[in-house]
Amino acid sequence: MNDRKGNGADGMMAEENEAGLKEMRNCRLCPRNCGIDRNQRSGSCRVGAKPRVARAALHMWEEPCISGEEGSGAVFFTGCNLGCVYCQNREIADGTVGKEVSVERLAEIYLELQEQKANNINLVTAGHWLSDVIASVKLARRRGLRIPVVYNSSGYEKVQAIRQLKDVVDIFLPDLKYLSRDLAKRYSHAADYPDVAAAALEAMVSLAGEPQFDGREMMTRGVIVRHLILPGHLEESKAVIRYLYETYGDRIYISIMNQYTPMPGIEARFPELGRTLTEQEYDEVVDYAIDLGVENGFIQEGETAKESFIPAFDITGV
Ligand code: SF4
Repeated sequence: MNDRKGNGADGMMAEENEAGLKEMRNCRLCPRNCGIDRNQRSGSCRVGAKPRVARAALHMWEEPCISGEEGSGAVFFTGCNLGCVYCQNREIADGTVGKEVSVERLAEIYLELQEQKANNINLVTAGHWLSDVIASVKLARRRGLRIPVVYNSSGYEKVQAIRQLKDVVDIFLPDLKYLSRDLAKRYSHAADYPDVAAAALEAMVSLAGEPQFDGREMMTRGVIVRHLILPGHLEESKAVIRYLYETYGDRIYISIMNQYTPMPGIEARFPELGRTLTEQEYDEVVDYAIDLGVENGFIQEGETAKESFIPAFDITGV
C-alpha cells in the first residue's frame, strides 16, 4: 500500500507517479528552488520525497461555507515551505510528525472522508507533493469522489504549480500574509513572498472563477483569501485588505482572522508577537474593511485565539 509507484489497478497511475519522482530528484517545485534530490534529503519544506500526512479528519473551524455543519475533510500534510516564525501548526510544519502514504492511500482517505459526510476535501499545505496530490485526486474522482476539492495554502507557490491544479481543485483557500517585503523577510524568511503570493493568487482566481455555492450555501467553486492579523501590525493588515478589494472586488471572499496564538518562546526573539490580538485591534481592521465596501468577507467572533483550534496531529484517519 505504501509503495509510491505501485498500483497495477489503474493504468494512469504509474505515469502520473513518474512525474512526481522526476520532480523530486531536483526539486524546484516551489519558489524556494532548493534544487535538491528529496530522496536523499529534505529542503526548506523539511520533508522528503514521499507524501506524509499528520491528520485526516472532519474539521469544524474553517469558514462556514467550507466547514458547514458536517465539517470539512481536512487532510493535513506534513512540512511547509514557508516556515513562519509564528507558525500556528509548528508540529507539522517542522516535519516531525506524520505517516507516509501512497497515492492510492491518499485517494482512499478522501473517499473515507466523503463517506463520513465531509463537505469537501481540504488539502492543507500539499504543494510540496504536487504530482502525487494531483494523481491522488484524479484517482479518487475516478473511484467516486464527488465533493469539491479545496487547496489550502500559504500562498507561497509558483504560478506554474497552481496552473497544474486546473480541473483538480475547485476552491482555493490561500493566505495573503503580507505586502511588506520587510515583514515577509523578518517573519517568513521570504522577501519575495508579496510578489510570489500575489501572482499565485491571480492564477487561482483565474482558474476558479467567480464564487459559486450550492443550495446549502456551501462553496462549490471560488477563492477565499485568508489574512491573519498579527499583533501590532494593523496598518499592514489594512494594506492587504485594500489590495485584495481593489484588485478583485467581489470576485473573491476575504477572511479576516483574529486567531493569532503566540507559540512558546516567540517573545524572546520577536517581542511584538508575544501576545494575542486585542478586541479593539481586530475591530479596527474589520471596520476598515467594512468602510472600504468589502461585503464578501468572513470575520471571527468571540475568543478564537485558543490552542483548541489547533487539532491533534496524531495521524488520526491516516
Ligand atoms: S518543495 Fe521543498 S524541496 Fe522543493 S523547492 Fe520547495 S522547499 Fe525546496
